[in-house]
Amino acid sequence: MPPGTPPQFRDSLPEACDVVVIGGGIAGVSAALYLARDGLDVVLCEKGVIAGEQSSRNWGWIRAQGRDEAEIPIMLTARALWKSLAQELGPELGLTTCGVSYLAMDQADLARFEGWLPVARRHGLDSRVIGGKALADLLPHQAGWAGALVTPSDMRAEPVWAVPAMARLAAAEGVRIRENCAVRGLDLQAGSVTGVLTEDGPIRAPRVLLAGGAWSGLFAGNLGLSLPQLSARATVAATAPMPDFWSGAAVDANIAFRRRADGGYTLAPGTAHDFWIGPAAFRHLRHYMPQLRRDLSQTRLQWHAPRGYPDGWRTPRRWAGDEPSPFERMRLLNPDPNPARLRKIQDDFAAAFPQIGRPALRAAWAGMIDTMPDQVPVLDETPIAGFFVATGLSGHGFGIGPGVGHVMSRIMQGKDPGHDLTRFRFLRFQDGSPIRLGPDL
Ligand SMILES: Cc1cc2nc3c(=O)[nH]c(=O)nc-3n(C[C@H](O)[C@H](O)[C@H](O)COP(=O)(O)OP(=O)(O)OC[C@H]3O[C@@H](n4cnc5c(N)ncnc54)[C@H](O)[C@@H]3O)c2cc1C
Repeated sequence: MPPGTPPQFRDSLPEACDVVVIGGGIAGVSAALYLARDGLDVVLCEKGVIAGEQSSRNWGWIRAQGRDEAEIPIMLTARALWKSLAQELGPELGLTTCGVSYLAMDQADLARFEGWLPVARRHGLDSRVIGGKALADLLPHQAGWAGALVTPSDMRAEPVWAVPAMARLAAAEGVRIRENCAVRGLDLQAGSVTGVLTEDGPIRAPRVLLAGGAWSGLFAGNLGLSLPQLSARATVAATAPMPDFWSGAAVDANIAFRRRADGGYTLAPGTAHDFWIGPAAFRHLRHYMPQLRRDLSQTRLQWHAPRGYPDGWRTPRRWAGDEPSPFERMRLLNPDPNPARLRKIQDDFAAAFPQIGRPALRAAWAGMIDTMPDQVPVLDETPIAGFFVATGLSGHGFGIGPGVGHVMSRIMQGKDPGHDLTRFRFLRFQDGSPIRLGPDL
């Protein structure tokens, strides 16, 4: 949401409820919606505004393409949920089946893409690899790619609209939502959750879901739980309205672009990002060695995260439930976009589409992407009974978000989630399992 968006949800807090959800991004809002649909009394607390952080700042891609195989079944559930949400909410989501393409710079890229196709086939996806000529027919005006991995059934939605619309739906179905309400910690008895401590007072609840995006590691750390989550800044821009030369979403090694509902394109510097080194980065370094060994070329390292950031050097790591927490001190994690990356986006777009030329940018922003060492989320109950976590969606959580909310709503009720969640367990970084990275496409 644009900074300055006023709160729209200020429900009063009950003394007790069935479930408290911490965080009003796509994971928290979806979980709250599906829990309420199963008849539970749900309160959602958001320290800032609904979808103020990653969930409104992302590219809006809803893709099964290129995912870790363990995520694909949940992603297919998410696709079905997006479609049924679009039926309920109408054009408010901006949901469009537009296809997602990974553009190959050379034959080596194409060979990597081919290598992922057996995964797609095992899950019935319509993904295929096409050559340069076939791509040129689909995507005109381009300087020339060697081909692409394409999945025509993948979709996009408008992030700024989608999650607030889902929150309104959740509220209409009984979820009490309170913005500007940080959860500072948990009330515990004999190792189990009995409620939460918010800045507006306590709420008793036997089950709590942490869906705090980039803040989840800090929240868990204050409880003595190790969650090796880190986050990185990703810069994004929206162009002024442009001719519709391509209705889909595509990315190569330098640039990502997708058509927007407002007639422009969302542009981004591919996967390039800026990483601020802080205490958690040192603490969790060993878990991240496989990622670092795979590719550091897309990462620019910097010292000193801005004051108050989740891994800032002076950000408190411990606080009591009756004192202000880092969460209410920073209601909106709103990094400045990197100006050098914005200029490069324009240059790279002009080089890729010489006939279209350098695009005028209408807006620019950045988001802190939260990630886990193996690039897949944590979806599990923690060692604290009744305390669940859905976080670390690792740069691809918007598309799968409704599926994440759905599986969390099931496991929080002790029901079968319908999917194998072994890969997403909380303790995988502590039980000696090797780090297995997601696909490198
Ligand atoms: C630039 C960018 C591009 C991306 N592109 C895509 C894409 O195209 N497709 C895709 O699938 N994914 C994409 N992603 C990733 C996707 O946006 C995220 O994975 C997803 O939005 C994470 O959702 P979330 O609900 O876990 O976290 P968030 O959306 O970050 O929400 C967490 C919320 O919790 C709140 N909170 C935290 N702590 C507390 C507390 N103690 N009390 C109360 N509230 C709290 C925060 O204020 C925040 O609003 C992108 C991300 C970025 C930044």
